[in-house]
Amino acid sequence: MGRILAETHPDAHCELDFRNPLELAVATILSAQATDKKVNEVTPKVFAQYPTAADYAAADRAELEVTLKPTGFFRNKTDSVMKLGQQLVERFDGEVPGNLPDLVSLPGIGRKTANVILGNAFGVPGITVDTHFQRLVGRWRWTAETDPVKIEHAIGAMFDKRDWTMLSHRVIFHGRRVCHARKPACGACTLAKLCPSYGTGPTDPVQAAKLLKGPRAAQLAEAVGVDPSVVPQQAFAADVP
Ligand code: SF4
Repeated sequence: MGRILAETHPDAHCELDFRNPLELAVATILSAQATDKKVNEVTPKVFAQYPTAADYAAADRAELEVTLKPTGFFRNKTDSVMKLGQQLVERFDGEVPGNLPDLVSLPGIGRKTANVILGNAFGVPGITVDTHFQRLVGRWRWTAETDPVKIEHAIGAMFDKRDWTMLSHRVIFHGRRVCHARKPACGACTLAKLCPSYGTGPTDPVQAAKLLKGPRAAQLAEAVGVDPSVVPQQAFAADVP
């Protein structure tokens, strides 16, 4: 299944735009309850206005709130990024630390966010157990654990450490584009033959292909032998949650 996921999603990557660990830390905080697409619309302005941790620490709260508003929960998020900036300045010379214990000691950064930062900004392998990851490994019966930390350890034991970050991206891509929470596209899924939950969503290939999402939705349909023209146009630009 890991190999098929790699073939199915050769474009898998962190969907948040960033250029350094601080930008990824802020983008990840902003991504709570928001789509990565929405966050990416907002962050160019944020990153230009607040290039360093000290800039967040010294931000004008009201001004930052206005900038972050489109991502939702903006008061909490403003609070988190300001506190993050303050702690980074006070404890880490303004730099985002590259290890799990220090990262999770920072405001707004839980274990999931820390693994995203480690895996994508520091090249340290990490498994990101988000809602998609949790749902899919459950559907695949890879583990019966329900606690995110236990899931992380259970799946980590099944794959080479060097593959952890990319595995996370591929599983999350599959969750966003194919194996949706409500109506998974079972009939247009490359994992159908191996998946113990096949049938959770529509199994008719054409019906299922209409549920595929993302810029590669047509290729995903083709990969299972479905005429890609059945994929509706809006699927390609879909704002994947
Ligand atoms: S067969 Fe269905 S439940 Fe299984 S991974 Fe594919 S879309 Fe998800």
